[in-house]
Amino acid sequence: MKLAILSRNKRLYSTNSLYEAAVKAGHEVRVIDYVKCHMEITSMRPSIYLGDEKLEGFDAIIPRIGATYTFFGCAVVRQFEMMNVYSLNESVAISRSRDKLRSLQLLARKGIGLPVTTFAHDPRATGQLVKQVGGAPVVIKLLEGTQGVGVVLAETNKAAESVIEAFRGLNANILAQEFIKEAGGADIRCFVVGGKVVAAIKRQGKEGEFRSNLHRGGSASIVKITPEERSTAARAAKIMGLNVAGVDLLRSNHGPVVMEVNSSPGLEGIETATGKDVAGLIITLIENQIKIQTPNRTRTKGKG
Ligand code: ADP
Ligand code: MG
Repeated sequence: MKLAILSRNKRLYSTNSLYEAAVKAGHEVRVIDYVKCHMEITSMRPSIYLGDEKLEGFDAIIPRIGATYTFFGCAVVRQFEMMNVYSLNESVAISRSRDKLRSLQLLARKGIGLPVTTFAHDPRATGQLVKQVGGAPVVIKLLEGTQGVGVVLAETNKAAESVIEAFRGLNANILAQEFIKEAGGADIRCFVVGGKVVAAIKRQGKEGEFRSNLHRGGSASIVKITPEERSTAARAAKIMGLNVAGVDLLRSNHGPVVMEVNSSPGLEGIETATGKDVAGLIITLIENQIKIQTPNRTRTKGKG
């Protein structure tokens, strides 16, 4: 196969791991900085260029779109889809996953367990938002935050209202969420490849930190997940339309609740902690998908 990894940097652990796995499996692979690409939107002849080079002949792409470049990155992925190139995760699914509210709405519809979440536009609803998630302590989140930035724990109702007002003043979209205290600053990252959880780790926030993000100093360890956690994670990835996903769960008193579903989950934490060749499994999935993929048909076509 001729593969392209859409990534800004060859030296990133995840990009490099996928690259090595593709080479090992005997494929031709290239890392393409998608931000430097440009597209020609022409009737019947969609094309993509990197400088003056026309990008052609790829069998599959592996999108690793950074949160900062969601809009442009998804447009590049979509352009490849228009050219009938198989995308490991499709553009619609990636953009869904980047909006926490949209993701939770889709998951809620299918009965996935979630922390109670509220969202409003009208500032007069602020008090009600906090009340409906059970009052303080409450978690306030930016709709498009990542790596724990823009996730705040408000200890009192007054603090919650002030934080919501402050974010609003900056024109940021936020949601309020029930604080799952019993999770104890830890979450479970389930790595889903092709509908199955292939590896899972527990991430524990550093002392005094409720956010478990590895970027915030959290630590990863191997964990055994329950059958319920396993099926919740696999279903969540499927509902989002993601072939590869990092599904983050919190262990709540009322079972596993999904916090978010990541469409470009990092490989370093999971491969290092579990010793599993997750990148290799992703390449195998692409090999199998290519065989069954009907040309000119994306699975999320026509869906929001
Ligand atoms: P980001 O996209 O920035 O990673 P998350 O929604 O994943 O945002 O939140 C970051 C971290 O904060 C999570 O990994 C988790 O440890 C903690 N967290 C988020 N929401 C809750 C919640 N409702 N209850 C308890 N902890 C939470
Ligand atoms: Mg997260």
